[in-house]
Amino acid sequence: MNPVRIVPWTADFITALADRLVAEAPRLDLSRTRIVFPHNRPARHLRAALAARADLTRPMLLPRMQALDEFLRSLRQNLSETPPRRAGKLDRIGLLHGVVRGLGLAGGPFAKLNDTARAFFPWGARLASLLEELARHGVSPQDLEHLEGAVLPWAEALLGQLGGIDAAYKAGMLERGWTTSGLDALWLSERLDEIEASLDGERLIFAGFHALAPTEEAVLRRLWERSGALVLWHTDPALALGGEVAWPAREHARVLRSWHAKAVLERETPKNPAPQVRRFYEGFDLHSQLYALQRELAALPDTQSTAIVLPDPGALIPVMHHLPAVDVNISMGYPLQRSGLAQLLETILVLHENGDGAGRFLWRDLIALSRQPLLRMLRAGVDTPLRSAYQSWERHIRSSSALQSPHEWALAFDPDETNVAEEELRTLHQEVLDACFTSFQGLRTLRQTGQAVAGLCDLLRRRGGQAWQHLLIDAECLLRLWQSVVPELTGSILADEEYDQGLLFLILRHLLEAERVSFEPEPLAGMQVLGMLETRLLRFRRLFILDATEDNLPGASAPDPLLPDPLRLALGLPGARERDNVAAHNFYRLLMGAQEVCVLYQAGVRPGALEGKSVRSRYVEQLLWELERATGKLVKPQPECVIDAPLKAVSFPVAAILPNRPAIRVTPEIRQKLADRLRDKGVTPSALEDWLACPKKAFYRRVLNLRPMQEVAEDGDRALFGELVHRVLRDFFSPLRGQVITPGMLDEAALFALMEAGLAEQAEALNLTYDGRVALFAATRERLQRFLRATPATSVMELEYVAETQLHAAGLDIRLHGQIDRVDLRETGHMVLDYKTGTVKDGGSVAWLDAELFARLAACAPGSPDAATLLAELADSGLDVQLPMYLHLLGASGDWRPDNAAWVALKSDGAERPFFPVEAEPKERAQVIQKRVPALVGFLLEHLLAASEFPARSGRHCDWCDYQGPCCG
Ligand code: SF4
Repeated sequence: MNPVRIVPWTADFITALADRLVAEAPRLDLSRTRIVFPHNRPARHLRAALAARADLTRPMLLPRMQALDEFLRSLRQNLSETPPRRAGKLDRIGLLHGVVRGLGLAGGPFAKLNDTARAFFPWGARLASLLEELARHGVSPQDLEHLEGAVLPWAEALLGQLGGIDAAYKAGMLERGWTTSGLDALWLSERLDEIEASLDGERLIFAGFHALAPTEEAVLRRLWERSGALVLWHTDPALALGGEVAWPAREHARVLRSWHAKAVLERETPKNPAPQVRRFYEGFDLHSQLYALQRELAALPDTQSTAIVLPDPGALIPVMHHLPAVDVNISMGYPLQRSGLAQLLETILVLHENGDGAGRFLWRDLIALSRQPLLRMLRAGVDTPLRSAYQSWERHIRSSSALQSPHEWALAFDPDETNVAEEELRTLHQEVLDACFTSFQGLRTLRQTGQAVAGLCDLLRRRGGQAWQHLLIDAECLLRLWQSVVPELTGSILADEEYDQGLLFLILRHLLEAERVSFEPEPLAGMQVLGMLETRLLRFRRLFILDATEDNLPGASAPDPLLPDPLRLALGLPGARERDNVAAHNFYRLLMGAQEVCVLYQAGVRPGALEGKSVRSRYVEQLLWELERATGKLVKPQPECVIDAPLKAVSFPVAAILPNRPAIRVTPEIRQKLADRLRDKGVTPSALEDWLACPKKAFYRRVLNLRPMQEVAEDGDRALFGELVHRVLRDFFSPLRGQVITPGMLDEAALFALMEAGLAEQAEALNLTYDGRVALFAATRERLQRFLRATPATSVMELEYVAETQLHAAGLDIRLHGQIDRVDLRETGHMVLDYKTGTVKDGGSVAWLDAELFARLAACAPGSPDAATLLAELADSGLDVQLPMYLHLLGASGDWRPDNAAWVALKSDGAERPFFPVEAEPKERAQVIQKRVPALVGFLLEHLLAASEFPARSGRHCDWCDYQGPCCG
């Protein structure tokens, strides 16, 4: 009986296989040998191992090496009269949709479902995968009935007709001359005699298989039984030696029993190997693991036979940034969806989904596109002119409306920013617009979608120039997108079906999500970065396994809405347990061959909607448990300073986050600039309010003249709305100026008409839709009604009245000025009115009427710490600066008799909120208006010009301060 040969998992499988071939070379024609591996990568390593063997006679023809899928495919091609073609996923989904429609038309269970292509596609994709798996497992499914309530209606309908769908699908595939890898395996498993005859004496070696699907196993078994194929496993030697077999090798034990086979050792187990060194790091997140990994790698004496294993391929890019400067080979399937290229494509798709269909797009999406690094790196000659040009595009987008056309921007050419001629820059920008906007506009078929994607790829390749030589991962992703996704879109039977944009983008996203970019190591030397699957059959002396959490090792499959796990068992498909066993074998096989293992895992809180804690992998648990058994001690995470601790917790010293809003140190240059501004621009009430509320904020705004980045106000421009209300009230009262007004005289309809006209005129600038404008008008109308009702008898004397006076402070003549919304004449004198569309503060006059406080002010030296404390006290007291300053400005000319001022609370009841309470005597009022206002303003300005710093006065107002960023550093 042909035994199954076992290379102990502590030995190197590739070396053992090379040894065998070298030993056989003198007596066998190796070119008549075919070696079949589970996947492609071991073949590369075997070729390299044979090339390095000095004891192999040269020249010679090497054995033929194939991955299992390729082997089965070639067998089928040889045995078929007309070799079938492998169908793409979209072809299969299209075929299945036809099958399901046929069943629905016959009055079946699909009749009640919304059988549109859009509704079917997600189910079709899952159904195609399920039928593929059923074929590979040789299962001819029965209909699964009575699933009502157990699965979703679509799943219920599909599973209820599964037998019929499977039969019609296979017939359809056959009729079209299509196949899949699963159907190939099934077809071959039904023709074992023919396979055997077709091999024509060729010698076969099946190297390193574990957990084959039943159809594949049937083919291999027959060739092992009847054709003398050699079966080599890399597994627990106990299968050959006897004794307890390690649990991850149980699948091999099952095969031995099922095949009635005997296992023999291909080579001896290494005698007394040095005990494996194991170190564990527990980090809070990926960063802390990378920090530990970086230090581990830096301490290595060499990087030969060293592998960094990433169970989660998403960690590849961060890991690349932490590797030492040595030769590194990447060997893994990287999800295309995680690449920068896929992000660019996603940005374009979102842009078109949120667009209005008439060539206008959401401003945020336009900014996201203009910031895409892959667009900004496009070249004209050797220059990348879009880098600076798109900053100016972004500024334009921010200052425009919520929905805008990319053609609105006239491309402001600045010769100081680039060496490229204007025409060249315009041509490049136009190509970007064509590739990202025009090509994706109005798509109706998958072929057009594929052509749009191909156009984008073409632009990136042509205009990317030398950049692709540095962006290696992105370059591979570009190739994959172009050579795999585009043909799938343009070449399937669905390519010319008409679909809406939603379905086209859904299909494109589905293809991107399923695509893996395969990185192959070449040459094989140096440090290797591999995915878990890519480690199969390879052996490394040193292993670094990153992110070894339960989510990654063994990893959980996402729930399948079509076929939940319990139903998989009903169909005879493997469940989670079998999948976990495969992962366990991969892990332990890899581990057994290493001399030094460093396992890093995350134990911190995972951010996200379902925030949870990462759990270390069950395999790590087992390794720690083995350690505890060997040492008789519990293994707990220890600080890194405990040198010989087996499990170290990576932590960073965390200091309490203190509020860090340092004051601005006033240099002579700053002081001079402030003095210049005061002299040139004067002082307004709102500037004084800023200085009093937070000197740091006032410095940013009033001295540096910093303005917050302009942005499109998506929920309406409040400042513009406030201006509109002021303008409407001015226009409303203008004809009544100088007249005595009683409440009954005010024409409500005229005011509303002015407001409605103003809203209509400003609708675009306010970013208001028709609905928004109608709602805003209704609310404004109600408030204006309240305002009219609350207006007392009065005479309107001035509207938007500009008043000013001079103040001498700190050796400067400073102009105090401001614009008063309205000046009325009342019984006791003139009344200053200020319309307030926001919230009105109470108690603004309390501090002004406090004589003791002003006595302290007079006693303080400007610039002193006492002065700073006193001003802070005034700010905290809620002292209002604006209204008393207006009163002072009004009184300063001598033409007016200012008596009081009031906020008009338009946001609430429309009533006036007087500044001075009724009990304030006229003398006290005059004292405030004529003496205390100039005293306080003069004191404040002198203090600012003498102070050594402008403090940050933090409080609740910081929440809506525009300068939080620079303030907090
Ligand atoms: S964040 Fe607060 S403390 Fe800083 S400048 Fe703005 S208001 Fe002042």
